[in-house]
Amino acid sequence: MTKITYSIVAPIYNEIEIIDEFCKRINAVMDATGETWELVLVSDGSTDGSTERIRELAAADEHIRPVIFARNFGHQIAVTAGLDYTRGEAVTIIDADLQDPPEVILDLIEKWKEGYQVVYAVRSEREGESWFKKFTASLFYRIIYKITDVEIPLDTGDFRLLDRKVVDVMNSMREKHRFLRGMSSWIGYKQIGVEYKRAARFAGETKYPFKKMLQLALNAVTSFSYFPLQVASYFGFFSAGIAIIAIPVVAILRITGSHFFEGQTTTLIAVLFLGGVQLISLGILGEYIGRLYDEAKGRPLYIVSEAPENG
Ligand code: UDP
Ligand code: MG
Repeated sequence: MTKITYSIVAPIYNEIEIIDEFCKRINAVMDATGETWELVLVSDGSTDGSTERIRELAAADEHIRPVIFARNFGHQIAVTAGLDYTRGEAVTIIDADLQDPPEVILDLIEKWKEGYQVVYAVRSEREGESWFKKFTASLFYRIIYKITDVEIPLDTGDFRLLDRKVVDVMNSMREKHRFLRGMSSWIGYKQIGVEYKRAARFAGETKYPFKKMLQLALNAVTSFSYFPLQVASYFGFFSAGIAIIAIPVVAILRITGSHFFEGQTTTLIAVLFLGGVQLISLGILGEYIGRLYDEAKGRPLYIVSEAPENG
């Protein structure tokens, strides 16, 4: 078989209005490279006819390799499956909704040719998104940056080019709750950012409602940081510290006949405060334990109903 130089991975969840235009734009850009290339389209349990359309396109264009999921597994898992099926020397992950302009791939390739193994695209501007989305996204990137142990660049999504070496390492990391941009930062090698303007969606609406974004944020934090677990100890030390100071103070006040600390209010506040802190700490423990449990079950990351033979 021919050697493939460039692979493109795009996850697709109910994007029937977009697929044709996306493939057209990718074709134009990739043909301009003059190298061999493939486009791995992962249908993540689409129910709007996207899967059928992907099949048709694949039958007409040999660059397209479809991976069809048995159900919706989520964006990060869809991209993971796409990576598993790529064969190229340089692999670009891109959203199918044309928010990441395919033309930017050429800039990513240029940096790869200069010898970088991870070239991530940095959003210098975002168009056509609500202030709420922009605000939560910006906050999310900054919190992750502060509390995680890896250097995850700011304002950077999954739109990036990875060298084959990096893809092979990623594919060997089979953790269930995946935060791909963190994983590719964690791997190391030579990494660099390229700025681009994030466009508005070509059609349709976001497939990332607030709940999914929150899930992604939780995965990011729990995958790359123990900080939330440590917060419980900080609170513990803080409350214990207050108690150590307060006990003798209250005892002395009572002995000397002061009525300042009488009544149930103070007790109630203390109980509620500590009860709250303890429940939150339990919840945090629960998040980590749930993830441990998922890992222990050892289920496959995804189930495909159709996929190309690899090789
Ligand atoms: N996507 C997916 N599975 C999902 C949700 C989204 O494969 O469960 C795909 C979607 O089709 C798109 C990409 O992931 O190609 C990014 O999703 P979206 O554009 O909705 O996210 P946003 O850009 O709004 O954060
Ligand atoms: Mg989008």
